[in-house]
Amino acid sequence: MDVLTTPAAMQDWSRAHRAEGRRVGVVPTMGALHHGHVALVDAVRRCADVTVVTIFVNPLQFNLDADFDSYPRPIDDDLDRCRDAGVDAVYAPTAAAMYPPGFQTHVEPGDLAERLEGPMRPGHFRGVVTVVAKLLAATRADVAAFGRKDFQQLAIIRRMVSDLDLDVEILGVPIVREHDGLAMSSRNARLTTPDRAAAVVVSQALGRAERSFRAGERDAGALRSTAVDHLSAEPRASVEYVEVVDADTLDPVTRVATPAHIAAAAWFGDVRLIDNVLLDEQ
Ligand code: AMP
Repeated sequence: MDVLTTPAAMQDWSRAHRAEGRRVGVVPTMGALHHGHVALVDAVRRCADVTVVTIFVNPLQFNLDADFDSYPRPIDDDLDRCRDAGVDAVYAPTAAAMYPPGFQTHVEPGDLAERLEGPMRPGHFRGVVTVVAKLLAATRADVAAFGRKDFQQLAIIRRMVSDLDLDVEILGVPIVREHDGLAMSSRNARLTTPDRAAAVVVSQALGRAERSFRAGERDAGALRSTAVDHLSAEPRASVEYVEVVDADTLDPVTRVATPAHIAAAAWFGDVRLIDNVLLDEQ
């Protein structure tokens, strides 16, 4: 497995593979890799000839310095996990290589970035799409995978790829969960033991709303209340939002007539968790 640390080295690597007719698949991550990331690698490997995992804790997308500073960076474990998963190259640039002095160009997302996570995390999605554009360019990706855990991010990236005519296929990969239902996240490692036990309420709350939907409930307010009631009953959880939004536009809906997501964000101590479930007739 190759490890590359500069955009130029990454581009050379991918250019050589593409010249041999190989499709380059890319999994952008911030490291602290878990089974969710491995699912993205598996998805990419099924439709690419060589697979690159990018590991970069992107300062542009963090709202709080403390969150950026405390973000886990177990690079040796991550490299082992990539090797085990059959990854061909890891692209792990430094912040200085990504944002050298004089850097000043950003990608500006539109309305999709104003919903859900947007108001809570000003500038977050601008940072995400800027770094994803750079990572896709450096890796010369033919295909790239993103998790549905961050379904808003996935929607914004699909939009960017379409709007900017980027020649890359985007895969959306289902959420990988712990045995009790908690969506896997690099941030879960920072939960205290009691908060980790309590955090299961997030997926439980969304699961209750989903069951209610399957039983015929279509009123978004009722579905939302089902989830909020369950979350609010857990004293360790501080709920930031629970929303029911259209799956395409991410606009809030009053009735679920077309595919929608019920999405939640909640704090446990100083750890912020997000999760969502697709509400679809099929
Ligand atoms: P991160 O390293 O947290 O920035 O995540 C990198 C990619 O992995 C993103 O596309 C995430 O949506 C995806 N991802 C993170 N956690 C999960 C999960 N539990 N299931 C599926 N994809 C995930």
